[in-house]
Amino acid sequence: MGCMKRAVVVVCDSLRRDMMTTETTPNLLAVASRSVVFKDFSPVFPSVTRSSSPAIATGCHPVNHGILGSAMVIDEGTGPVCASVGDPDFVDRLRKVRGTVLFRPTISELLQDVGDAKIFSNVSAGAAYLLDPEGYGYVYHRAGSYGPGRKPVPAADRLDIAVGIEGDAEMTRRFCRDVIEGGVVFGTLWLSEPDNAGHNSPLGSPTHIAAIKSADRCVGNVLEAIAVVDPHFTETVLFVCSDHGMNSVRRTIDIAYQLVHSGFKSSYHSDDIVVADSGTSARIHISNSAKDRKQDLINFLNNQDWVDRAFSSDDLHDIGSPSCPGTSIVIAMAGDNVANEYGVSGMSDCAIGPDEVDQQIGVGQHGGAGFGEVQPFLFVRGPNLRASVSEAKVSLVDLAPTILEHLDVKPPRMDGRSLLPIMTRWAV
Ligand SMILES: [Zn+2]
Repeated sequence: MGCMKRAVVVVCDSLRRDMMTTETTPNLLAVASRSVVFKDFSPVFPSVTRSSSPAIATGCHPVNHGILGSAMVIDEGTGPVCASVGDPDFVDRLRKVRGTVLFRPTISELLQDVGDAKIFSNVSAGAAYLLDPEGYGYVYHRAGSYGPGRKPVPAADRLDIAVGIEGDAEMTRRFCRDVIEGGVVFGTLWLSEPDNAGHNSPLGSPTHIAAIKSADRCVGNVLEAIAVVDPHFTETVLFVCSDHGMNSVRRTIDIAYQLVHSGFKSSYHSDDIVVADSGTSARIHISNSAKDRKQDLINFLNNQDWVDRAFSSDDLHDIGSPSCPGTSIVIAMAGDNVANEYGVSGMSDCAIGPDEVDQQIGVGQHGGAGFGEVQPFLFVRGPNLRASVSEAKVSLVDLAPTILEHLDVKPPRMDGRSLLPIMTRWAV
């Protein structure tokens, strides 16, 4: 394998930076000891993977890339309805509705003349495809894997795995072979753990810790593969991160039900007001017919003990997201910093819809800006970068411009900025 510049992103979905220990995450701590460790790394809002993956791909916040949460209100000609962004067909539905999926180009698109971009993801299909919805590179996912032009890959090349520890391990093996050994310019490995276990078991429980250990082993495998092709990181820049953290679910709240019973929404399935929930946050779409109820609704919401804050979307910048003019209300659900039975701090109320009645109390969730949710981690290792701890305020949207600068591609206008100039380098 000859020398070539490459960028590699490994995402341990939902892993909180305060949950790394020498016993549970030896490989991650080994990466950290040789990386620039960003102490003040923020997720985007809402802190959900389906908004985070396009934020990584485009270097932009949700309001600018256009994926506003885990679910989105869309109108396919029969009035506004709530659609799950995670579904395999969501990108096609959205393209039909608004002519485009994302409002900004992805890294895969910007690298189309440079070399192959290959993405392996074991989270929801929607979150996977949103990294490259127009098919400039490759996206491998259990619901369907596509090459350039969104052509399905040959049968032997499919990624037939399940969510969870075993699937992540198999996907990592493929990633190391096809991306690291295969000499791909840009590769992304998006693990389902510890997010999958976190959604189904208490944070810090044996099941959750086992999932964190699994993600750590996958990171170790990627490091071993890089050690073969570029042992001194002279050509490779490696980002190891999570897209957000998690809080524990304190209560579950069906917002549509609350709005019907307080007289704001005419019936549970009416389209005057439609709720799209994203775990511990939600977006409320207000139709023209209900516009005059908006301010009263904001006042009502701000008086509920399950609401931390209801924003008219014009003041979203208060939570670090650019403002977005429109008729929606965004809710960050209430929470506190109380620890669960395993000593993991941070509880939140969780928004649920009719399809989520099985949401358990006491398991992990995310979407808002609660204590544990805003604790993702970011380690960057690369050519001449000196291991150090950076206090700089950085966020998920800074990955794309950094990757493009490393690969000598001039990025278009993005919300993020390249981290290369602010990382400490060895004097050459
Ligand atoms: Zn999740």
